[in-house]
Amino acid sequence: MTDDSVAALVDRVRDGDIRLHELEAHANADAAADARRRIVESDAGVDLDAVGSYGFPAERADANIENMIGAAQVPMGVAGPVTVNGGAVDGARYLPMATTEGALLASVNRGCSVVDAAGGATARVTKSGMTRAPVFRVGDVAEAEALVEWVRDNEGGLREAAEATTSHGELLDVTPYVVGDSVFLRFRYDTKDAMGMNMATIATRAAAEAIEEATTASLIALSGNLCTDKKPAAINAVEGRGRSVTADVTIPREVVESRLHTTPEAIAEVNRRKNLVGSAKAGSLGFNAHVANVVAAMFLATGQDAAQVVEGSNAITTAEARDDGLYVSVSLASLEVGTVGGGTKLPTQGEGLDLLGVGGGGDPPGSNADALAECIAAGALAGELSLLAALGSRHLSSAHESLGR
Ligand code: NAP
Repeated sequence: MTDDSVAALVDRVRDGDIRLHELEAHANADAAADARRRIVESDAGVDLDAVGSYGFPAERADANIENMIGAAQVPMGVAGPVTVNGGAVDGARYLPMATTEGALLASVNRGCSVVDAAGGATARVTKSGMTRAPVFRVGDVAEAEALVEWVRDNEGGLREAAEATTSHGELLDVTPYVVGDSVFLRFRYDTKDAMGMNMATIATRAAAEAIEEATTASLIALSGNLCTDKKPAAINAVEGRGRSVTADVTIPREVVESRLHTTPEAIAEVNRRKNLVGSAKAGSLGFNAHVANVVAAMFLATGQDAAQVVEGSNAITTAEARDDGLYVSVSLASLEVGTVGGGTKLPTQGEGLDLLGVGGGGDPPGSNADALAECIAAGALAGELSLLAALGSRHLSSAHESLGR
């Protein structure tokens, strides 16, 4: 659209003919974003040139945002390559990471090179399933028990109703929780390569309708917060959500000493006193050093839902000095990732997935999302190792001083 036509759109909004959020119905996505940005610039008295300089057609973000005015650009770099000996990924990978935290990539990169010197990280997805837990109101506890019984006896019918809404999703199980006259049913799905939150929600709505038709229960909310999405919650730490994924490595003693300038014993002690004792004393759900850093940076680089860093960083790091060196592991209980759907379709995020070799649907379905989870776990392992080593050798503040300021 020409400059004049964008100006005409601005005038129509000013005249009250079009509302700010309706611009896309009257122009292509780039022109709509341009007109909206001009209005916001003039109303707020600011210059949004940088926000308006983005490198993809706005229509590619149609399903990802409303009221678009441009893009927030986050620098992207790589750590690695690091070898990931996984169940779904096997070989060396550059890890794409988008962040504004100076020193983060340098630190993870150092960890990657040490992990590689030890032959790479072993990684496995040990449990998988996206959950949605609607809450139902019943008359009393006797009715609650009757509903739980009904659900147990009718899981086949619920599966049929849920799976009729998706060609990929499979209902794995339904776990009931009763609190007085509230009954929560935690539906868990294999969502293959999709993170699956929309898929699970749509499927659960169909199952909930079947429950309401056949029982006295009333659906109060499709999400009863026992799922639990985007809130810190012990249920995800214990039961898992999305992918539960673990990575580990044993680093020869001489590599620890020559590359990390510390010892296996020093790193193990830092881990025990900080990640285990310190986290326990703090009542923390995360028993790790900075897993959220790697999860957030790789989520941004690969189009994951950024708010799910909350549960994605729910991880335990262990470190142990052994005869042959240092054993380190990191276990992420609830890493919600997908390689199709959501933000994965955006051009830069799609390239981030391609860099890992996991873009789109996997063969078999689910294998690409498993591979992504294993790559993130390997990155988290490298990050933990590097930070623990920095603390063990007391180099942390000097690295931040020289790199991050
Ligand atoms: P989606 O973009 O809504 O759906 C992805 C779809 O891709 C699937 O439903 C599936 O269609 C299809 N598909 C194609 N190939 C596939 C494969 N190999 N494996 C799996 N599916 C494949 O994505 P979603 O993962 O369900 O949901 C993610 C989105 O939900 C994100 O944008 C996130 O921000 C948002 N979100 C929603 C909620 C909510 O409560 N609704 C909460 C948090 C986040 P079929 O189902 O037809 O097979």
